[in-house]
Amino acid sequence: MIRERMRNIRLLLLDVDGVLTDGRIIYDHNGVETKQFHVRDGHGLKLLQRAGIQVGIITGRQSEVVALRARELGIELVFQGAKNKLEPFRRILQQTGLRPEQVAYAGDDLIDLPVLRQVGCAFTVADAVEELFPYVDYVTRRPGGAGAVREICDLLLKQSGCWGEVTARYFAEVAE
Ligand SMILES: [Mg+2]
Repeated sequence: MIRERMRNIRLLLLDVDGVLTDGRIIYDHNGVETKQFHVRDGHGLKLLQRAGIQVGIITGRQSEVVALRARELGIELVFQGAKNKLEPFRRILQQTGLRPEQVAYAGDDLIDLPVLRQVGCAFTVADAVEELFPYVDYVTRRPGGAGAVREICDLLLKQSGCWGEVTARYFAEVAE
């Protein structure tokens, strides 16, 4: 049952292009790559970390903006330029001592499939390559770069029973 497996998740690994972004890659006139990230995804990832669930990134591409965004969100597990995503995935398992069933992964394209098939919870986004759909546990309602990651974060927090604790400050009554 997917709900029970979500409860065991200690680490959320994310693809970048098409998951944390809408997949568009913008170049400036110097050839420097730019991407757009969604602020609500960022907050979701902070909430997840507050609940003790680690976050990591595995991307096939390489860009400075990804390193910047990861730094901003306090994400230390960052693997860029991974053509075979299973390699960094195995390295992360070794590094963290976690088992595959304690890891969730979100990806949107065929390159993500090998890792999606290994993890405890496999996520994809609404506008993913549709060939992924039979292999995942959950397809977000929102597309990549438009809050899909936030949806995953909120789901994991609610299923793990941490939602109330990590969001209590926002629901607290304002003191007179
Ligand atoms: Mg992708």
